[in-house]
Amino acid sequence: MSFSLTDEQRQVQDTIRRVALEKVAPRAAAIDADGAYPQDMFDLLCDLGLFTLPFPTEYGGSNSMLAACLAVEEFCRVCYNTAYLLVVQWTPFSAILAGGNDEQKKRLLPGLADGTLRMAFSTTEAQGGSDVAGINNRATRVDGGYRLNGAKIWCTNSSVSDFVLVAAKIVEDGESEPKRGAINLFIVAHDAPGFTIGPPENKMGARGVPSCPLFLDNVFVSEGDRLGPEGLGFKVVMEAFNKTRPIIGARGVGLAQGAMELAIDFVRERRTFGQQVSNYQGVRWMIADMAIQIEAARNLVYRAAAMVDDGITGQELSQASAIAKTQATDTAMTVATDAVQLFGAAGISNDYPINRYFRDAKVLQIVEGTNQIQRNIIANNLIGRS
Ligand SMILES: Cc1cc2nc3c(=O)[nH]c(=O)nc-3n(C[C@H](O)[C@H](O)[C@H](O)COP(=O)(O)OP(=O)(O)OC[C@H]3O[C@@H](n4cnc5c(N)ncnc54)[C@H](O)[C@@H]3O)c2cc1C
Repeated sequence: MSFSLTDEQRQVQDTIRRVALEKVAPRAAAIDADGAYPQDMFDLLCDLGLFTLPFPTEYGGSNSMLAACLAVEEFCRVCYNTAYLLVVQWTPFSAILAGGNDEQKKRLLPGLADGTLRMAFSTTEAQGGSDVAGINNRATRVDGGYRLNGAKIWCTNSSVSDFVLVAAKIVEDGESEPKRGAINLFIVAHDAPGFTIGPPENKMGARGVPSCPLFLDNVFVSEGDRLGPEGLGFKVVMEAFNKTRPIIGARGVGLAQGAMELAIDFVRERRTFGQQVSNYQGVRWMIADMAIQIEAARNLVYRAAAMVDDGITGQELSQASAIAKTQATDTAMTVATDAVQLFGAAGISNDYPINRYFRDAKVLQIVEGTNQIQRNIIANNLIGRS
């Protein structure tokens, strides 16, 4: 296994770096401040043809998770929200690719690839997001399909999406307790009768892409809108997410890199006691520690992505992906916190960009399986469970 970059991957990195600096960076502060969906950034990603980047070439992708990580890293270095637009589109793409049948793939993947369709992915409910097996939303079997009932929270991208992949447990009519863990995803159209999307959360970070509650009141979905075999579809999709988890780590690496660069620029300019703040050894060591942590995290993320590209699966990949996600997002938080410290009071002011990095970094430790849940995965792989 190797993760030295191919010519094609370097080309992706160079192109995205240039676009990110020229076109995305100037928009980043306003997207965060307004908390409005950045349609112009979505259009830019469409024009660049990036919505299939990690996926097989038959869908127009590069078939490279490492290339996807490089792209996300470069965008996140300047704008968390633009990188997020890619990741929220990749999640349903990856779910349908892993768990969908031929008809579902034909119906949905081309539109997701060219950006004419948008989708969202919803498991989290009010009583908890970590315990996915404990969800309460139900799909009651009826003639020709299912009736979905329940509510969801924190469904990102839902208010701008054409379809939402909703996780629910299948029950027979009149059955009161669904089986724990037997979950499927259902393709629910934005305008399906009985389906309502609530107002977006007012978020501290990740402010450009809306996260909303969903309400399902007897929503009919046909058999053809169930992903995968009954009771098994969700498991297939969750296993596929081991492959995309390095991307979340790449968001942490890019964010940390951007925060460190801003801190370096600031301490070089700022003067106290008659000299540049960057002259003080304590400050220099803080910057050095940032670089050490970022490089370590980057290597873990690239390694996990290269494992995906080399076809490694199962426990070996789940361990590497969980370690990479945890280390990279914890690094993002540590580096962003220290960067705010180096800005002094300016770090608290919304007139400077650094507090945006701090707020976005916190989100990364919580989403896609909190870092405590990742540590459970890592420990279970090492120790097992009695
Ligand atoms: C910006 C944002 C976007 C999101 N987008 C989506 C989305 O698109 N779709 C979606 O379905 N969800 C989404 N979520 C929800 C996210 O997946 C959940 O917040 C996450 O899974 C944690 O669930 P929770 O918030 O209910 O915390 P809980 O599960 O209630 O956990 C609370 C705390 O307890 C800890 N904890 C829980 N169980 C354990 C355990 N066994 N061992 C140790 N610690 C534990 C957790 O780590 C956490 O610190 C989003 C969240 C955010 C913040």
